[in-house]
Amino acid sequence: MEKIEHIGIAVKDLEKSNALFASLFGESHYKIEEVASEGVKTSFFKSGPNKIELLEATHPDSPIAKFIEKKGEGIHHIAFLVQDIHAEIVRLKNEGFVVLNDLPKKGADNKLVVFLHPKTTNGVLIELCQEIQ
Ligand code: ZN
Repeated sequence: MEKIEHIGIAVKDLEKSNALFASLFGESHYKIEEVASEGVKTSFFKSGPNKIELLEATHPDSPIAKFIEKKGEGIHHIAFLVQDIHAEIVRLKNEGFVVLNDLPKKGADNKLVVFLHPKTTNGVLIELCQEIQ
């Protein structure tokens, strides 16, 4: 894995949180994107070399809605950039991690993404992402 690509934060109200994080970073979000397959609307902020992704549920069955229901707003996942997501899926499965989907899906921000089940990663939802060329 190369580096932390971004940190994902679950929020109830994307508009309010966009304003909040804009005043925190002194800079507005640079992108809003809906990922219909995941039931989320996302916005991205840059803070120096780091990226923050805010996630709002677009329907009550969205994984983000369920997360907020259980745990409240807050850090939802940490995403790591990888060069070859297919190879990483095989490697991590062999190491005993539970990968949530066998094939990577198209995520936000022009990435292929896959998630590791938090039960195998000390309660932290890990996202692997690879830039789509
Ligand atoms: Zn993410």
